Amino acid sequence: MADETSETAMLSKRIADLEAENDALRQEADELDRRVAELEDEIEGRSEEQHHDEHYVAGLESEIDVLTDANADLEARLESAEGHASSSDPGLGSDEERVYLASKNRRHFHRPQCRWAGYIPNYLLLEFGSHLEAVQAGYKPCKTCQA
Ligand SMILES: [Zn+2]
Repeated sequence: MADETSETAMLSKRIADLEAENDALRQEADELDRRVAELEDEIEGRSEEQHHDEHYVAGLESEIDVLTDANADLEARLESAEGHASSSDPGLGSDEERVYLASKNRRHFHRPQCRWAGYIPNYLLLEFGSHLEAVQAGYKPCKTCQA
């Protein structure tokens, strides 16, 4: 009996630790997504005003790639911490069911195949069934994928 009790206590402690780690990872992923959102806006603004300034945009895009890698790593750790690794959630693979995608942190919505859509952490992901639905939710269409 004593062993069972201490085992339960250990598991509870382990779960509490994972939840704390989870919160920290979420905050970190959240910050990264906000940074991506800033870059997204900046690139959208640039592409409207200065089509020729490709070096600047390329610089921003490489910064985004770094953030995206960091975010993907955080997400993988989040998923394993949550024990969702074996869940049947198909994630971004099931494009046919997701007409338009947006992040809770961002102002634009995207087609599923858009590079920007791929940067959205799953827990910040919003799905819209139509262009109108996304607009009514306060999102603007992405110019990159012409959402
Ligand atoms: Zn897009």
